[in-house]
Amino acid sequence: MEMKGEKKIPAKKTALKPPPKAVSSGPKEKSKSLLPPSADFAHLSSTQRLWLQKLEIHDRRDLLFYLPRRHEDRTRSLELDGSRIGQSLVVRGVVQQSKSAWWRGGRGVFEVAILLNPETITEPLTSDLLKRRLLRCRWYGMPFLKKSLCQGRELILYGKLFKDKEGLLMTHPEFEILDSSEDSTIHLNRLTPIYPLTEGVPQRGIRALLYREIMEKPIEVAEFYPVPEDLISLQEAIPNAHFPDDPHLLQASMRRLVYDEFFILQCVLAQRREGRKKILKERAPRKMELGKEFLAQLSFEPTKAQRRVIAEIERDLENPIPMHRLVQGDVGSGKTLIAVYAMVLAVERGQHAALMAPTEILAEQHFLNLRRWLEPLGISVGLHTSAKKKSDRSPMDSPEIQQTLFKGKGSVTVGTHALLFDSFVTEQLGLVVIDEQHKFGVMQRLTLVQKGQNPDVLVMTATPIPRTLGMTLYGDLEVSVIDELPPGRSPIVTLCRKENELPKVWAFMRKQVEEGRQAYVVYPLIDESEKVEAKAVQTEYERIIPLMAPYRVGLLHGRLKPDEKEAVMKDFRAGLIKVLVSTPVIEVGVDVPNATLMVIENAERFGLAQLHQLRGRIGRGAHKSYCALIGEAKSLEGWQRLKVMEESCDGFKIAEKDFAIRGPGNIFGTEQSGLPPLRIGDFLRDFDLLQRSRKDAGELLKSDPELKKFPQLKRQLDAIHLQRKTLATVG
Ligand code: ADP
Ligand code: MG
Repeated sequence: MEMKGEKKIPAKKTALKPPPKAVSSGPKEKSKSLLPPSADFAHLSSTQRLWLQKLEIHDRRDLLFYLPRRHEDRTRSLELDGSRIGQSLVVRGVVQQSKSAWWRGGRGVFEVAILLNPETITEPLTSDLLKRRLLRCRWYGMPFLKKSLCQGRELILYGKLFKDKEGLLMTHPEFEILDSSEDSTIHLNRLTPIYPLTEGVPQRGIRALLYREIMEKPIEVAEFYPVPEDLISLQEAIPNAHFPDDPHLLQASMRRLVYDEFFILQCVLAQRREGRKKILKERAPRKMELGKEFLAQLSFEPTKAQRRVIAEIERDLENPIPMHRLVQGDVGSGKTLIAVYAMVLAVERGQHAALMAPTEILAEQHFLNLRRWLEPLGISVGLHTSAKKKSDRSPMDSPEIQQTLFKGKGSVTVGTHALLFDSFVTEQLGLVVIDEQHKFGVMQRLTLVQKGQNPDVLVMTATPIPRTLGMTLYGDLEVSVIDELPPGRSPIVTLCRKENELPKVWAFMRKQVEEGRQAYVVYPLIDESEKVEAKAVQTEYERIIPLMAPYRVGLLHGRLKPDEKEAVMKDFRAGLIKVLVSTPVIEVGVDVPNATLMVIENAERFGLAQLHQLRGRIGRGAHKSYCALIGEAKSLEGWQRLKVMEESCDGFKIAEKDFAIRGPGNIFGTEQSGLPPLRIGDFLRDFDLLQRSRKDAGELLKSDPELKKFPQLKRQLDAIHLQRKTLATVG
């Protein structure tokens, strides 16, 4: 039985680890390198202390909160039957045979045959019975397993069950070797905790240690804030989160601990919100009315949603409290316009504005657009990427023109991460806009913000977050939603196709090109290394060239030099390149309305949200657009997932389905929210707790803003604020 879903809790994340002793016992670093680490562990052997050290458990409190990543129900043995294929489950058995082999490509495979629950077999072993009782387990690239998994060993395994011609199969299951000399009440016949580990720390060893420390000693933690009555006490929750007596207690314990985690998070958010209200900035009077001019010269009418968001931003920028707004809008909803408008308002007041984008391609595109839109208004636009610095400013940037034209007016700089370096300095940075904010780390956003003095901050994202969740999660940001696409877009027709259907897809692509359209062919990031990626996409590129001749095919990947990338994009934009073969570098922002076809290869490797982002590159013009998802979906689940894309073009719906299929996971981690990472809570699964904690935290801080009655909570929050002092400024 799977108690907690597949949610992994990496050993490193420490959000829940309450840090009050940072105040009392000095920095932790000291204990890290020295044995013995803590008086709490003086009674343990040096090996055990080493394990704890590797898991970053430095004192008793860390230990109590070192929660398992899941539990296994070892109270009963499962009888396997067909209905369990495709599920993750726990089985028990004895190794009958083992063999090693070499796979094509040099990878070794080690395989064992395991007889399941041999003690319950009463009838003679017929081949039919064997089919049901024999499980083959396979590990690739782990030849050393041969030593430990020899014949006769009894194992408990956990993995996903598959079936092939030869029978039942698991690949890379987790396993534990049973050892009769150990205490079976800890490891067996119970809901057994499985802890997150690092190399050199044995599961059984750590489990036995934690059992002794937690179950055979008093739990001396005290409550430190008013906990709702229907939740169980920490005293009860801690032991039951490790070694629960039954599944209900486990669930109640986890809810209690999740509530703790959310409560602290919501206190941090509430305090931040209050803190920000205290910063007041003096707003210079407007010098001109560029905003109206800007809107008047657009070649299209802003949508209702765009107008609403524009009004919201206008209001923010009249307010003495610095703006802190998230604009969320599906791909293609027209967020750039919003950003530009906000920048124009800053310029009106003589301030400078910076727009940071995650890729050079996107920064370059914004640069071109902004120039088109802003130079007629006499606003200078600069580009600042690692490849291009000031030299590439527009001709209007010459000192003479600057002197006359831009007197008293601000300017606009577009850039990539390069804006973060010291080479980018600008006085009076009054507005910072971050495009595709989920692509940046918190510290990066912060670095840019700190180049100004309490600048207004606008962050933009297309990452679809279910709305209620967004409001709760980004509790300290104002949220604007663009919930409308510009008119005249025809919906994208999406089709899932198997690899053997590719020839038809290429033929269709050729037809589109002959009709004057353009196309993308996207290849996934196959390997973490850009080199391998570049090679795969290069091969694909070479394959496609003859199929499209005489039309020009372009290639784009992360290994190209910036000016090579730029040249390719330029030709694609100009319509000289008809088919662009690319890695997901085009995922964000790229806007070429004449492109009407996107072929995504190995589509099953992408998450749905990413597929949606990619697909957002097409359907931007008046012509009908098509997206072909090419997959060799090995599992039904994978194929179903792709099929979701056929049914919906709505980012919110897709995100929700994705969560439903994949399980929510920690999708909105630190990267996005600027908050401590969640260790055990899950924003979607535990949404009710999240909402309650938000209300409770708000009320507590209202009644006791200084937390005089709750000094321990105060210490804990102070420590978080101190640690992330600077994060208070960014979402
Ligand atoms: P995203 O929200 O994905 O950043 P963009 O800002 O790139 O979207 O806008 C997508 C395309 O729609 C661009 O070509 C842009 O010029 C165009 N666009 C934006 N707003 C409107 C509008 N109100 N009417 C028509 N086209 C628009
Ligand atoms: Mg955009």
